[in-house]
Parts: sequence; C-alpha cells; structure tokens
Amino acid sequence: MDVSLQQVEYRYAAGSPFEKKAIRGVTFTIPSGQYVAIIGHTGSGKSTLLQHLNALLKPTSGSVVIGDRTVKAGRKEKDLKSIRQKVGIVFQFPEQQLFEESILKDICYGPMNFGVSEEEAKERAAYWIEEVGLSKDILDQSPFDLSGGQMRRVAIAGVLAMQPDVLVLDEPTAGLDPRGRKEMMDMFYRLHKERKLTTILVTHSMEDAAAYADKIVVLHKGKKVHEGTPKELFSDADRLAEWGLGVPEVVQFQRMLEQKTGRTFSGVCLTMDE
Ligand code: ADP
Repeated sequence: MDVSLQQVEYRYAAGSPFEKKAIRGVTFTIPSGQYVAIIGHTGSGKSTLLQHLNALLKPTSGSVVIGDRTVKAGRKEKDLKSIRQKVGIVFQFPEQQLFEESILKDICYGPMNFGVSEEEAKERAAYWIEEVGLSKDILDQSPFDLSGGQMRRVAIAGVLAMQPDVLVLDEPTAGLDPRGRKEMMDMFYRLHKERKLTTILVTHSMEDAAAYADKIVVLHKGKKVHEGTPKELFSDADRLAEWGLGVPEVVQFQRMLEQKTGRTFSGVCLTMDE
C-alpha cells in the first residue's frame, strides 16, 4: 500500500492570532514495501507530519493518500478506523501507553477494539509476543513487572497485532542503551524484510537513517529540503550542517582523511548499502 503526500500544509490554530505553520507544501511518496526515514532537527515538523500518516491530523491544504483513501481539508472522513488499522504508529515511549492488568489483555486491546474476535486476538498476541523477542509464557503477567525495554516490546507487539500494512516508528529507540537500540532497530529491519512491511522511521538519528533506510526525506522548518538515498544525502555534508543535522562519524572520518592526505575519498565510507 503506497502512502503519498501531495502539497501538504498544516497550520496549528489556523485562523487565530496564534496560528503556526508547521508543514509547508510537502510532497513525497512512500511506495509499498520501502523503508523510508524522515529526519530533521527538533521543530522541523516531523511529529506533525507523522500524525498525517494515519489521519490523526488532516492537512490544512493538500492531501494525503493512504492506499485507496484520500484525506484532505474540508471533507469529513468516514471510517477513519480502516485507515488507522492499515497504518500502525509506534509513538515515542510507547510503553507509557500500557494500562491493562496483563500483557495478553494489552496486546489484544487494539485488535478487539477494531472488531477482531477474542479468540483471534489471543492467537495474534501469542504470535506477536514471540516475534518481538519475548516468550508467550509471560502473557499472563502484568506488563508493569517487565523492564523498560521489554515493556516497549509489548507495546510494539500490540501495534503489530493490528496487522498494519504500514508501520510508522517515532524515535523508537529513544532512551535505550546502545545494545538495546541496535537490537530493536534490527528487529524492525527483519520485520520489514520478511513481511515486505512498508516502514517509516521518524528520527533525528542520522546513523539509524543511514543504516536501515532505502530513502531519506529531510525536513527543515516544515519544508522538505531533500529526498534521496543515504549515499546521496551524506555526500553533501555541508548541507546537513545547514539543516542542523549531525554529520555521521563515517563522513567525519572521510573528511578528516581528505584534509590530511589532500586526496578525495568520495564514496569510500559510504558503501554500507552496497
Ligand atoms: P518535530 O517533531 O520535528 O520536533 P513538530 O512537528 O513537533 O516538530 O513541530 C513543528 C512546529 O510546529 C514547531 O515550530 C512547533 O513549535 C510547532 N508546534 C508543534 N505542535 C504545536 C501545537 N500543538 N500548537 C502550536 N504549534 C505547534
């Protein structure tokens, strides 16, 4: 299922003295099965854009096409549930949304709320808890007895149990240690590859964007300023700095080598996707 933004603009408090333009004429398409990273400095519009991907926000102008549905200003949407089922969002610190007395109930909550039978929801819970790297033996336990990283995995299992076509990840590794970060990013990559799950990673981590995404979209002050492969993006380190983005260590290393030797190492350190 493709997701596409066409000239999307979003203004908070539109028409009031506090109006704030957060997204300015953004257009791009995420073809089915791709892994796309949306990166940008704090305040660049990432969270606002993300909420358009499953119609939590409606554009002030322009349109968002999600599969066969189009969301645009001035039109009342029927059946938003079907959009929300197709696009699963793992919000930042998703473990904070756990609330049920057992892990099983927490994972079943979303699917059952969307009309899935209790029996099927339980089957999905038993399946997805293992897919996120935990054992189904813990399903009857309280989620609040788990570690923070395990709680996050339970929350992610709850999103995956909705069987979305598109998975949106909002800074999914925030607060984890380096090992936990890598394990989680590898898990999402495996799900993406094995299931051809369209994956949209919203992050300010250039390293994660470079390591996992097919394509990177850069937002700066609400505008799309770049769209391309990681390699294309990192070949222009000066522009990254202009957009307030850190230059990954590999690029810094490459520039240091160039300064020291006077030679050009274009692409030498940028072959991680080849
Ligand atoms: P990011 O996720 O990249 O940090 P946001 O989408 O949160 O960016 O913010 C984009 C712009 O919109 C910022 O200037 C921010 O201050 C503003 N903004 C975000 N949320 C609101 C809101 N609820 N009301 C008014 N302005 C907002």
